[in-house]
Amino acid sequence: MEFEPVIGLEVHAQLLTKSKIFCSCSTKYGAAPNSNTCPVCLGLPGALPVLNREAVAMAVKASLALGCRLNLKSIFARKNYFYPDLPKGYQISQYDCPVAEDGEVELELSGLENGISKFKKFRINRLHLEDDAGKSIHVPGGDTRVNLNRTGVPLAEIVTEADFRSSNEAYAFLSYLRRVLLYLEVCDGNMDEGSLRCDANISVRPLGDSTFGTKTEIKNLNSFRFLRKALDYEIERQIGAVRKGKRIEQETRLWDEASQTTMTMRSKEEAHDYRYFPEPDLLPVVIPEEWLDELRNEIPELPEARKQRFIAQFGLDKESALLLTQSRAFADYFEEAVSHCRRPVAISNWMSGDLTRDLKRDNLDIRECPVSPENLAELVKLVDKGTISGKIAKDVFSKMFESGDEPGQIVSREGLKQISSADQLTEIVTAVLEANSDKVTAYRNGKLGLIGFFVGQVMRETKGQANPKLVNQLLGERLGSE
Ligand code: ADP
Ligand code: ZN
Ligand code: MG
Repeated sequence: MEFEPVIGLEVHAQLLTKSKIFCSCSTKYGAAPNSNTCPVCLGLPGALPVLNREAVAMAVKASLALGCRLNLKSIFARKNYFYPDLPKGYQISQYDCPVAEDGEVELELSGLENGISKFKKFRINRLHLEDDAGKSIHVPGGDTRVNLNRTGVPLAEIVTEADFRSSNEAYAFLSYLRRVLLYLEVCDGNMDEGSLRCDANISVRPLGDSTFGTKTEIKNLNSFRFLRKALDYEIERQIGAVRKGKRIEQETRLWDEASQTTMTMRSKEEAHDYRYFPEPDLLPVVIPEEWLDELRNEIPELPEARKQRFIAQFGLDKESALLLTQSRAFADYFEEAVSHCRRPVAISNWMSGDLTRDLKRDNLDIRECPVSPENLAELVKLVDKGTISGKIAKDVFSKMFESGDEPGQIVSREGLKQISSADQLTEIVTAVLEANSDKVTAYRNGKLGLIGFFVGQVMRETKGQANPKLVNQLLGERLGSE
């Protein structure tokens, strides 16, 4: 019997507000432990929460971008549980009436199924606002300390329907969601620092069944690699168990990187009863129509739409278009460069190759790129005009990246112009052939492969600046005669 996995994701995205959701403490990452705290986020008796308008704005934008239906009035609720990193003894979340519900995104799952791209819709169950808990730190020796800087940082929790049928689909969705949040500038998407966290729910069922099996939940998948590995492991584990006639226990599991397995964290019996009730200290969140219009206008072209437009408008392949639309700034850079030189494929190649390599090497963001879009366009033009060869262009690019100078300046300063003068090259060709008369004889006796050697010698003499087409032509003429 064949089985298929059924997967749903719960994603927590830290919203990029300057202050926390219910107090004015800073949200800055990396401050001294417990320095970003006040009576509100410490949960001291009598302290009252005040809702951060910016957090609501960001949640609304994310909801709209994910195709959700907004609740123009939503309600905060207390989710009660005890944990050392939760000083209030409850989390302020939303239960019955979240910010938004019933979303949908359509994604192109390119190259995933036999290389043929396929479009699939994934539904979003809800998006709600809540405050984050603090962080327990287990120090060597057995002590546990708590850092409450993160307590009260705004989170958007995004819950999907169980629409994913493979780890690839879940991966594609999470990576799209991350890009959307980055485009909207509502989350920095940093999984290492915990700004984006993902829990996955998984069950398996016989192929063709319409009901769901019992699920397990895997917590804290804090990288894309872990998500894929944990899902693949858990799918196999569950299918293996079901084949042996075992029942899947409903439980929470953790991905363990050391053993490359998922392990039980708590069983259903230990599940929390949160005893949700409406938060008495906060009014319902009401979003007036005019504000909603304003927020709607702030939503940029979204990554999937932009990718499809890049394919249609610039004739790019899917992979390039995906890479270029990775972030808004990267896509903006591309469009600006193309506006100076309509050679989208050449510009795309530079951006995915040398430019990305050098940004990574120097740990720079595209917004800090020393090569301006206009200068990159200029470089492409120099190659097109034959002023420099493609090979020299690579060196010029490196120098542009180092200095920020214009390519034309570098080419004339360093004398890198391509040598396309037949007279000048004939002289060098002659010298090369004279210095290697033994090889010339061998060539004429049939070792035609030596042509590569002669071309190489001329290139060496000209420091790579000789026009290769012309060199080949001149060598052909000279070696053929006499
Ligand atoms: P819980 O009651 O455990 O919180 P929910 O119904 O709220 O479960 O769903 C939480 C997440 O789990 C959602 O993403 C949902 O799509 C997913 N999910 C629910 N049931 C299953 C199942 N049987 N298999 C896989 N995922 C599921
Ligand atoms: Zn505070
Ligand atoms: Mg639930």
